[in-house]
Amino acid sequence: MTAYKRILLKLSGESLMGNQSYGIDQSRLNEYAEQIKEAVALGVQIGIVIGGGNIFRGLSGATQGFDRVKGDQMGMLATVINSLALNSALTAHGVKSKVLTAIRMEPVGEFYSKDKAIETLESGVVAIFSAGTGNPYFTTDTGSSLRGIEIEADAMFKGTRVDGIYTADPEKDPNATKYDKISFDQIYHQGLKVMDLTATTMCKENKLPIVVFNMDVKGNFIKVLKGENIGTLVHL
Ligand code: UDP
Repeated sequence: MTAYKRILLKLSGESLMGNQSYGIDQSRLNEYAEQIKEAVALGVQIGIVIGGGNIFRGLSGATQGFDRVKGDQMGMLATVINSLALNSALTAHGVKSKVLTAIRMEPVGEFYSKDKAIETLESGVVAIFSAGTGNPYFTTDTGSSLRGIEIEADAMFKGTRVDGIYTADPEKDPNATKYDKISFDQIYHQGLKVMDLTATTMCKENKLPIVVFNMDVKGNFIKVLKGENIGTLVHL
């Protein structure tokens, strides 16, 4: 049914807002939980990283006078809040999941290690990797690249609000067309914004392909897992 045995799913915090301007939209959260449930039923091992942009971003804090490191720590804690919310929604949908944290904070979640992550995934439990990389000046995209590489995922699935990578910003340029496939080098040469360069480069150097797709349309996650060509594949 699917070529993927183990994957890393990246969800943006901003998408979790739904139509709100802040926080967590319960219906969006439930939709994500339903889509993840379908994917688990396919037998795929799933690790998840969620952003925190719906609550706090270190960089925007810094422009308002926050210390950058403190702001980033607030951002990382925001990802923990989102991870706990997804953990609860998955439980409500009958899906087992475990929150691992990159910063030690038992009993909120267990402290991350590769061994714990693999053990969780191999037992059929969804692993939610929270607090990004645990370090300031990084993003959850980089956190996703790192965890995806560590758990030896077959690919990273980046769920966004657009359905893939375009030649230009589709919201600004009506002539923009979507790529079905694109190489890492093309992304660099054309200056396309898929993820930040640190995250993209980690994937390239460690041969982790990325599938960009619109997670906000119900059923899309299962479609990309089954290989349907509805997003953009970033390959070596
Ligand atoms: N963050 C960090 N280190 C990490 C991951 C995240 O400092 O390894 C902070 C950073 O301030 C970032 C915030 O957490 O702005 C939320 O993450 P991100 O902006 O990636 O969330 P998204 O855009 O996916 O909602």
